[in-house]
Amino acid sequence: RSSGVAPLLKLNDGRSVPSFGLGTWLGFSSQGGRVEPTGHEVEDAVIWAIDAGYRHIDTAHIYDTETQVGRAIKKKISDGTVKREDLFVTTKLWNDKHAPEAVLPALRASLLKLDLEYVDLYLIHWPVAIFPNGSLDNSIDYVDTWRAMQEARAQGLTRSIGVSNFNEGMLRRLAASSPVVPAMLQVEVCTSRTLRSPHSRGCHAWTASGPLGDSPLFAAIVTTRKFVEHVRSTRCQRGVHPWTTCRRVDAESRGGAGRLNLNLQQPSLLAYCRQQNIKVTAYTPFGSLFPSKAAPHAPPPRVDDPALVAMATKYNKTVPQVALRYLLDLGVIPIPKSVTQSRVQQNIQLFDFSLTPEEKQTLQKFDRGYRTIDVLHWKDSPYYPFEKPV
Ligand code: NDP
Repeated sequence: RSSGVAPLLKLNDGRSVPSFGLGTWLGFSSQGGRVEPTGHEVEDAVIWAIDAGYRHIDTAHIYDTETQVGRAIKKKISDGTVKREDLFVTTKLWNDKHAPEAVLPALRASLLKLDLEYVDLYLIHWPVAIFPNGSLDNSIDYVDTWRAMQEARAQGLTRSIGVSNFNEGMLRRLAASSPVVPAMLQVEVCTSRTLRSPHSRGCHAWTASGPLGDSPLFAAIVTTRKFVEHVRSTRCQRGVHPWTTCRRVDAESRGGAGRLNLNLQQPSLLAYCRQQNIKVTAYTPFGSLFPSKAAPHAPPPRVDDPALVAMATKYNKTVPQVALRYLLDLGVIPIPKSVTQSRVQQNIQLFDFSLTPEEKQTLQKFDRGYRTIDVLHWKDSPYYPFEKPV
Protein backbone atom coordinates (compact mmCIF):
# COMPACT_ATOMS: atom_id res chain seq x y z
CA ARG A 1 0.00 0.00 0.00
CA SER A 2 1.23 3.50 -0.78
CA SER A 3 1.86 5.40 2.43
CA GLY A 4 -0.58 8.13 1.37
CA VAL A 5 -3.61 6.06 0.48
CA ALA A 6 -6.19 5.87 3.26
CA PRO A 7 -8.08 2.58 3.48
CA LEU A 8 -11.85 2.79 3.11
CA LEU A 9 -14.17 2.15 6.04
CA LYS A 10 -17.67 0.83 5.58
CA LEU A 11 -20.53 3.01 6.76
CA ASN A 12 -23.72 1.57 8.24
CA ASP A 13 -25.64 2.58 5.10
CA GLY A 14 -23.45 0.45 2.87
CA ARG A 15 -21.29 3.28 1.55
CA SER A 16 -17.59 3.77 2.20
CA VAL A 17 -15.55 6.59 3.66
CA PRO A 18 -11.79 7.13 3.45
CA SER A 19 -10.32 6.75 6.92
CA PHE A 20 -8.48 10.07 6.71
CA GLY A 21 -9.40 13.49 5.35
CA LEU A 22 -8.60 17.18 5.00
CA GLY A 23 -10.20 19.82 7.23
CA THR A 24 -10.95 23.18 5.66
CA TRP A 25 -11.96 25.45 8.51
CA LEU A 26 -9.44 28.28 8.70
CA GLY A 27 -9.62 28.70 12.46
CA PHE A 28 -9.01 31.73 14.60
CA SER A 29 -6.33 34.32 14.02
CA SER A 30 -3.81 35.20 16.70
CA GLN A 31 -5.89 38.34 17.24
CA GLY A 32 -8.79 36.16 18.26
CA GLY A 33 -11.33 36.55 15.45
CA ARG A 34 -12.16 34.06 12.76
CA VAL A 35 -9.79 33.72 9.86
CA GLU A 36 -11.87 34.49 6.81
CA PRO A 37 -11.01 32.95 3.45
CA THR A 38 -9.35 35.49 1.20
CA GLY A 39 -9.23 33.85 -2.18
CA HIS A 40 -7.66 30.55 -3.02
CA GLU A 41 -5.84 29.27 0.05
CA VAL A 42 -8.29 26.43 0.61
CA GLU A 43 -8.58 25.73 -3.10
CA ASP A 44 -4.79 25.31 -3.25
CA ALA A 45 -4.83 23.08 -0.18
CA VAL A 46 -7.52 20.83 -1.62
CA ILE A 47 -5.63 20.56 -4.91
CA TRP A 48 -2.42 19.64 -3.08
CA ALA A 49 -4.39 17.21 -0.97
CA ILE A 50 -5.99 15.41 -3.89
CA ASP A 51 -2.61 15.25 -5.61
CA ALA A 52 -1.16 13.76 -2.42
CA GLY A 53 -3.84 11.06 -2.27
CA TYR A 54 -6.56 12.58 -0.08
CA ARG A 55 -10.01 11.52 -1.17
CA HIS A 56 -12.00 12.87 1.80
CA ILE A 57 -12.61 16.60 2.21
CA ASP A 58 -14.46 18.17 5.13
CA THR A 59 -16.16 21.53 4.85
CA ALA A 60 -19.23 23.28 6.24
CA HIS A 61 -21.52 26.13 5.33
CA ILE A 62 -20.21 28.14 8.26
CA TYR A 63 -16.54 27.82 7.25
CA ASP A 64 -17.25 29.79 4.09
CA THR A 65 -14.87 27.51 2.20
CA GLU A 66 -17.35 25.51 0.12
CA THR A 67 -16.75 27.60 -3.00
CA GLN A 68 -13.01 27.07 -2.83
CA VAL A 69 -13.43 23.35 -2.16
CA GLY A 70 -15.74 23.13 -5.16
CA ARG A 71 -13.30 24.94 -7.44
CA ALA A 72 -10.48 22.60 -6.46
CA ILE A 73 -12.60 19.52 -7.03
CA LYS A 74 -13.67 20.77 -10.41
CA LYS A 75 -10.04 21.34 -11.43
CA LYS A 76 -8.90 17.93 -10.29
CA ILE A 77 -11.77 16.23 -12.08
CA SER A 78 -11.13 18.27 -15.23
CA ASP A 79 -7.43 17.42 -15.29
CA GLY A 80 -8.23 13.73 -14.90
CA THR A 81 -6.63 13.23 -11.47
CA VAL A 82 -9.88 11.95 -9.96
CA LYS A 83 -13.46 11.20 -10.83
CA ARG A 84 -16.28 12.55 -8.72
CA GLU A 85 -17.02 9.08 -7.39
CA ASP A 86 -13.45 8.78 -6.07
CA LEU A 87 -14.06 11.65 -3.66
CA PHE A 88 -15.87 11.81 -0.34
CA VAL A 89 -17.10 15.34 0.32
CA THR A 90 -18.69 16.32 3.61
CA THR A 91 -20.53 19.53 4.38
CA LYS A 92 -22.69 20.59 7.31
CA LEU A 93 -26.01 22.20 8.09
CA TRP A 94 -25.60 25.34 10.17
CA ASN A 95 -27.62 25.91 13.31
CA ASP A 96 -29.90 28.57 11.87
CA LYS A 97 -31.27 26.14 9.28
CA HIS A 98 -32.65 23.46 11.59
CA ALA A 99 -36.28 24.02 10.71
CA PRO A 100 -37.23 20.97 8.66
CA GLU A 101 -38.34 23.10 5.73
CA ALA A 102 -34.98 24.91 5.76
CA VAL A 103 -32.79 21.82 5.50
CA LEU A 104 -33.12 20.98 1.82
CA PRO A 105 -32.72 24.59 0.68
CA ALA A 106 -29.61 24.88 2.88
CA LEU A 107 -28.12 21.77 1.33
CA ARG A 108 -29.00 22.98 -2.16
CA ALA A 109 -27.24 26.27 -1.39
CA SER A 110 -24.16 24.36 -0.27
CA LEU A 111 -24.26 22.23 -3.41
CA LEU A 112 -24.45 25.37 -5.50
CA LYS A 113 -21.33 26.72 -3.83
CA LEU A 114 -19.57 23.39 -4.14
CA ASP A 115 -20.77 23.12 -7.73
CA LEU A 116 -21.67 19.50 -7.05
CA GLU A 117 -24.82 17.51 -7.66
CA TYR A 118 -24.50 15.69 -4.37
CA VAL A 119 -22.30 15.52 -1.31
CA ASP A 120 -21.22 12.23 0.18
CA LEU A 121 -22.08 13.20 3.71
CA TYR A 122 -24.30 15.90 5.17
CA LEU A 123 -24.01 16.50 8.91
CA ILE A 124 -26.13 18.42 11.38
CA HIS A 125 -23.27 20.61 12.63
CA TRP A 126 -24.66 21.05 16.16
CA PRO A 127 -27.77 19.83 17.95
CA VAL A 128 -28.51 23.40 19.04
CA ALA A 129 -30.80 25.52 16.88
CA ILE A 130 -30.33 29.28 16.63
CA PHE A 131 -31.92 32.18 14.81
CA PRO A 132 -29.85 33.97 12.17
CA ASN A 133 -29.04 36.66 14.74
CA GLY A 134 -27.41 34.03 16.92
CA SER A 135 -30.01 33.81 19.65
CA LEU A 136 -31.32 30.41 20.60
CA ASP A 137 -34.31 28.98 18.82
CA ASN A 138 -35.52 26.51 21.39
CA SER A 139 -38.57 25.55 19.36
CA ILE A 140 -36.74 23.22 16.98
CA ASP A 141 -35.94 19.67 18.00
CA TYR A 142 -33.02 18.07 16.20
CA VAL A 143 -35.18 14.96 15.83
CA ASP A 144 -37.32 16.93 13.35
CA THR A 145 -34.20 18.23 11.64
CA TRP A 146 -33.04 14.63 11.33
CA ARG A 147 -36.24 13.70 9.45
CA ALA A 148 -35.47 16.40 6.92
CA MET A 149 -31.93 15.08 6.61
CA GLN A 150 -33.41 11.73 5.63
CA GLU A 151 -35.47 13.47 2.97
CA ALA A 152 -32.29 15.11 1.64
CA ARG A 153 -30.76 11.69 1.31
CA ALA A 154 -33.89 10.27 -0.31
CA GLN A 155 -33.73 13.05 -2.89
CA GLY A 156 -30.14 12.15 -3.71
CA LEU A 157 -28.68 15.46 -2.55
CA THR A 158 -26.42 13.57 -0.16
CA ARG A 159 -25.35 9.94 -0.14
CA SER A 160 -25.06 9.63 3.65
CA ILE A 161 -26.25 11.61 6.63
CA GLY A 162 -24.84 12.09 10.08
CA VAL A 163 -24.43 14.42 13.02
CA SER A 164 -21.72 16.42 14.72
CA ASN A 165 -21.26 17.45 18.36
CA PHE A 166 -24.04 15.13 19.52
CA ASN A 167 -23.56 13.32 22.80
CA GLU A 168 -24.36 9.68 23.43
CA GLY A 169 -27.75 10.42 24.93
CA MET A 170 -28.67 12.41 21.83
CA LEU A 171 -27.57 9.57 19.56
CA ARG A 172 -29.72 7.20 21.56
CA ARG A 173 -32.65 9.59 21.32
CA LEU A 174 -32.24 9.79 17.55
CA ALA A 175 -32.08 6.02 17.34
CA ALA A 176 -35.29 5.73 19.36
CA SER A 177 -37.06 8.24 17.17
CA SER A 178 -36.00 7.07 13.75
CA PRO A 179 -35.10 3.88 11.93
CA VAL A 180 -32.20 5.74 10.31
CA VAL A 181 -29.05 5.69 12.41
CA PRO A 182 -26.47 8.40 11.59
CA ALA A 183 -23.70 7.01 9.43
CA MET A 184 -21.18 9.36 11.03
CA LEU A 185 -20.59 11.26 14.24
CA GLN A 186 -18.10 14.08 13.89
CA VAL A 187 -17.15 15.06 17.35
CA GLU A 188 -14.69 16.02 19.93
CA VAL A 189 -13.95 12.79 21.63
CA CYS A 190 -11.13 13.84 23.87
CA THR A 191 -10.74 17.35 25.00
CA SER A 192 -8.06 19.12 26.82
CA ARG A 193 -9.08 21.83 29.14
CA THR A 194 -6.92 24.78 29.85
CA LEU A 195 -9.21 27.42 31.16
CA ARG A 196 -10.77 26.95 34.51
CA SER A 197 -13.09 29.86 34.76
CA PRO A 198 -15.42 29.95 37.74
CA HIS A 199 -18.34 28.96 35.58
CA SER A 200 -16.52 26.18 33.77
CA ARG A 201 -17.70 23.07 35.40
CA GLY A 202 -18.28 20.81 32.50
CA CYS A 203 -16.48 19.67 29.43
CA HIS A 204 -17.65 21.99 26.75
CA ALA A 205 -16.67 22.25 23.15
CA TRP A 206 -16.10 25.43 21.31
CA THR A 207 -17.65 25.43 17.91
CA ALA A 208 -14.96 25.75 15.37
CA SER A 209 -16.47 28.60 13.52
CA GLY A 210 -17.51 30.42 16.61
CA PRO A 211 -20.70 29.34 18.23
CA LEU A 212 -22.59 32.19 16.73
CA GLY A 213 -20.99 32.03 13.36
CA ASP A 214 -21.00 35.33 11.57
CA SER A 215 -23.82 36.75 13.54
CA PRO A 216 -23.73 40.32 14.83
CA LEU A 217 -23.88 38.93 18.31
CA PHE A 218 -20.75 36.93 17.71
CA ALA A 219 -19.03 39.98 16.29
CA ALA A 220 -20.04 41.96 19.33
CA ILE A 221 -18.82 39.34 21.70
CA VAL A 222 -15.46 38.89 20.11
CA THR A 223 -14.73 42.55 20.44
CA THR A 224 -14.63 42.24 24.16
CA ARG A 225 -11.11 41.68 25.28
CA LYS A 226 -11.98 39.10 27.84
CA PHE A 227 -13.77 36.95 25.36
CA VAL A 228 -11.05 37.25 22.78
CA GLU A 229 -8.52 36.09 25.32
CA HIS A 230 -10.85 33.34 26.33
CA VAL A 231 -11.09 32.15 22.77
CA ARG A 232 -7.39 32.54 22.20
CA SER A 233 -6.42 30.63 25.22
CA THR A 234 -8.69 27.72 24.49
CA ARG A 235 -9.21 27.67 20.79
CA CYS A 236 -6.96 24.72 20.21
CA GLN A 237 -8.48 22.55 22.83
CA ARG A 238 -11.05 20.89 20.70
CA GLY A 239 -11.00 17.65 18.91
CA VAL A 240 -9.78 14.18 19.31
CA HIS A 241 -6.50 14.47 21.10
CA PRO A 242 -4.61 11.41 22.13
CA TRP A 243 -3.43 12.97 25.34
CA THR A 244 -6.55 14.34 26.84
CA THR A 245 -9.80 13.15 28.21
CA CYS A 246 -13.30 14.37 27.86
CA ARG A 247 -15.76 12.86 30.19
CA ARG A 248 -18.75 15.00 29.52
CA VAL A 249 -20.57 12.81 27.09
CA ASP A 250 -20.48 9.99 29.57
CA ALA A 251 -21.96 12.33 32.12
CA GLU A 252 -24.58 13.45 29.64
CA SER A 253 -25.56 9.94 28.77
CA ARG A 254 -26.19 9.31 32.41
CA GLY A 255 -28.56 12.16 32.67
CA GLY A 256 -26.75 15.37 32.07
CA ALA A 257 -24.82 17.57 34.36
CA GLY A 258 -23.40 14.96 36.60
CA ARG A 259 -19.88 14.52 37.76
CA LEU A 260 -17.42 13.65 35.13
CA ASN A 261 -15.40 10.49 35.03
CA LEU A 262 -11.83 10.31 33.97
CA ASN A 263 -12.09 7.63 31.32
CA LEU A 264 -9.74 7.88 28.46
CA GLN A 265 -10.81 8.78 24.93
CA GLN A 266 -14.54 8.59 25.46
CA PRO A 267 -14.84 4.84 25.79
CA SER A 268 -18.57 4.98 26.30
CA LEU A 269 -19.24 7.13 23.26
CA LEU A 270 -16.84 5.25 21.03
CA ALA A 271 -18.15 1.90 22.23
CA TYR A 272 -21.70 3.02 21.54
CA CYS A 273 -20.72 4.16 18.07
CA ARG A 274 -18.91 0.89 17.42
CA GLN A 275 -21.96 -1.04 18.54
CA GLN A 276 -24.23 0.99 16.26
CA ASN A 277 -21.65 0.97 13.49
CA ILE A 278 -21.53 4.75 13.54
CA LYS A 279 -18.15 5.89 12.28
CA VAL A 280 -16.46 8.70 14.21
CA THR A 281 -14.62 11.62 12.63
CA ALA A 282 -12.05 13.34 14.82
CA TYR A 283 -11.85 17.06 14.43
CA THR A 284 -9.01 19.31 15.63
CA PRO A 285 -6.77 16.27 15.79
CA PHE A 286 -3.63 18.12 16.84
CA GLY A 287 -5.09 19.69 19.96
CA SER A 288 -2.36 21.68 21.72
CA LEU A 289 0.55 19.95 20.04
CA PHE A 290 1.84 23.14 18.47
CA PRO A 291 2.99 25.83 20.93
CA SER A 292 1.62 28.55 18.67
CA LYS A 293 -1.86 27.14 19.13
CA ALA A 294 -1.54 25.92 22.69
CA ALA A 295 -2.92 27.76 25.67
CA PRO A 296 -0.34 28.59 28.34
CA HIS A 297 -1.56 25.89 30.69
CA ALA A 298 -2.49 23.28 28.13
CA PRO A 299 -1.33 19.85 29.16
CA PRO A 300 1.61 18.21 27.43
CA PRO A 301 2.78 17.00 25.06
CA ARG A 302 4.06 19.59 22.65
CA VAL A 303 5.62 18.78 19.37
CA ASP A 304 9.08 18.63 20.98
CA ASP A 305 8.10 16.09 23.60
CA PRO A 306 11.07 13.67 23.90
CA ALA A 307 8.95 10.51 23.88
CA LEU A 308 7.12 11.58 20.74
CA VAL A 309 10.29 12.77 19.08
CA ALA A 310 11.86 9.38 19.79
CA MET A 311 8.90 7.60 18.18
CA ALA A 312 8.95 9.90 15.20
CA THR A 313 12.68 9.39 14.74
CA LYS A 314 12.32 5.63 14.99
CA TYR A 315 9.79 5.56 12.14
CA ASN A 316 11.38 8.38 10.17
CA LYS A 317 8.16 10.34 10.67
CA THR A 318 7.25 13.62 12.30
CA VAL A 319 5.52 14.06 15.65
CA PRO A 320 2.27 15.25 13.98
CA GLN A 321 2.31 12.05 11.94
CA VAL A 322 2.73 9.98 15.09
CA ALA A 323 -0.23 11.79 16.64
CA LEU A 324 -2.39 11.16 13.57
CA ARG A 325 -1.33 7.52 13.40
CA TYR A 326 -2.43 7.07 16.99
CA LEU A 327 -5.86 8.50 16.20
CA LEU A 328 -6.21 6.10 13.29
CA ASP A 329 -5.40 3.31 15.71
CA LEU A 330 -8.19 4.51 17.98
CA GLY A 331 -10.51 3.79 15.08
CA VAL A 332 -11.46 7.39 14.39
CA ILE A 333 -11.05 9.37 11.17
CA PRO A 334 -8.73 12.35 11.62
CA ILE A 335 -9.33 15.38 9.41
CA PRO A 336 -6.35 17.69 10.04
CA LYS A 337 -6.46 21.06 8.36
CA SER A 338 -3.49 22.64 6.71
CA VAL A 339 -3.06 25.26 4.04
CA THR A 340 0.68 24.62 3.89
CA GLN A 341 1.64 22.37 0.99
CA SER A 342 4.38 20.44 2.79
CA ARG A 343 2.10 19.78 5.77
CA VAL A 344 -0.84 18.73 3.61
CA GLN A 345 1.48 16.24 1.95
CA GLN A 346 3.11 15.11 5.16
CA ASN A 347 -0.07 14.57 7.14
CA ILE A 348 -1.40 11.76 4.98
CA GLN A 349 1.82 9.74 4.97
CA LEU A 350 0.50 7.49 7.71
CA PHE A 351 -0.21 4.16 6.17
CA ASP A 352 3.26 2.64 6.03
CA PHE A 353 3.95 2.39 9.74
CA SER A 354 2.22 1.42 12.93
CA LEU A 355 2.85 2.04 16.58
CA THR A 356 3.65 -0.75 19.01
CA PRO A 357 1.28 -1.44 21.91
CA GLU A 358 3.87 0.11 24.24
CA GLU A 359 4.05 3.25 22.16
CA LYS A 360 0.27 3.52 22.14
CA GLN A 361 0.36 3.17 25.90
CA THR A 362 2.82 6.03 26.08
CA LEU A 363 0.43 8.14 24.06
CA GLN A 364 -2.46 7.12 26.25
CA LYS A 365 -0.59 8.34 29.28
CA PHE A 366 -0.75 11.89 27.99
CA ASP A 367 -4.44 11.80 28.63
CA ARG A 368 -5.62 14.60 30.93
CA GLY A 369 -8.87 15.47 32.55
CA TYR A 370 -8.87 18.87 30.99
CA ARG A 371 -11.97 20.67 29.92
CA THR A 372 -12.57 22.80 26.91
CA ILE A 373 -14.22 26.12 26.51
CA ASP A 374 -17.74 26.52 27.82
CA VAL A 375 -20.20 27.48 25.11
CA LEU A 376 -22.36 29.01 27.75
CA HIS A 377 -24.35 31.22 25.44
CA TRP A 378 -26.00 27.98 24.29
CA LYS A 379 -26.44 26.50 27.71
CA ASP A 380 -30.14 27.33 27.80
CA SER A 381 -30.84 25.35 24.70
CA PRO A 382 -32.73 22.18 25.55
CA TYR A 383 -30.28 20.54 23.18
CA TYR A 384 -27.08 21.88 24.63
CA PRO A 385 -24.86 18.83 24.24
CA PHE A 386 -22.48 19.39 27.09
CA GLU A 387 -22.54 19.43 30.84
CA LYS A 388 -24.04 22.57 32.19
CA PRO A 389 -22.37 24.67 34.85
CA VAL A 390 -23.56 24.14 38.37
P1 NDP B 1 -6.20 20.90 13.44
O1 NDP B 1 -5.94 20.05 14.63
O2 NDP B 1 -6.38 20.23 12.13
O3 NDP B 1 -4.99 21.92 13.38
C1 NDP B 1 -4.84 22.80 12.33
C2 NDP B 1 -3.56 23.60 12.59
O4 NDP B 1 -2.43 22.73 12.57
C3 NDP B 1 -3.31 24.66 11.56
O5 NDP B 1 -2.80 25.77 12.28
C4 NDP B 1 -2.23 24.07 10.67
O6 NDP B 1 -1.42 25.08 10.14
C5 NDP B 1 -1.47 23.22 11.65
N1 NDP B 1 -0.84 22.04 11.05
C6 NDP B 1 -1.44 21.12 10.27
N2 NDP B 1 -0.57 20.13 9.96
C7 NDP B 1 0.60 20.45 10.56
C8 NDP B 1 1.88 19.83 10.61
N3 NDP B 1 2.12 18.67 9.99
N4 NDP B 1 2.87 20.45 11.31
C9 NDP B 1 2.65 21.62 11.95
N5 NDP B 1 1.44 22.25 11.95
C10 NDP B 1 0.44 21.67 11.26
O7 NDP B 1 -7.44 21.87 13.76
P2 NDP B 1 -8.85 22.25 13.11
O8 NDP B 1 -9.60 22.93 14.19
O9 NDP B 1 -8.70 22.93 11.82
O10 NDP B 1 -9.60 20.86 12.88
C11 NDP B 1 -9.52 20.15 11.69
C12 NDP B 1 -10.83 20.21 10.92
O11 NDP B 1 -11.89 19.64 11.67
C13 NDP B 1 -11.34 21.62 10.63
O12 NDP B 1 -10.59 22.25 9.62
C14 NDP B 1 -12.77 21.33 10.27
O13 NDP B 1 -12.85 20.83 8.94
C15 NDP B 1 -13.12 20.25 11.30
N6 NDP B 1 -13.75 20.80 12.52
C16 NDP B 1 -15.07 20.48 12.78
C17 NDP B 1 -15.71 20.94 13.90
C18 NDP B 1 -17.15 20.60 14.15
O14 NDP B 1 -17.79 21.26 15.00
N7 NDP B 1 -17.71 19.61 13.48
C19 NDP B 1 -15.01 21.79 14.89
C20 NDP B 1 -13.62 22.03 14.56
C21 NDP B 1 -13.04 21.54 13.42
P3 NDP B 1 -1.38 25.53 8.59
O15 NDP B 1 -2.78 25.45 8.04
O16 NDP B 1 -0.86 26.92 8.67
O17 NDP B 1 -0.44 24.59 7.91
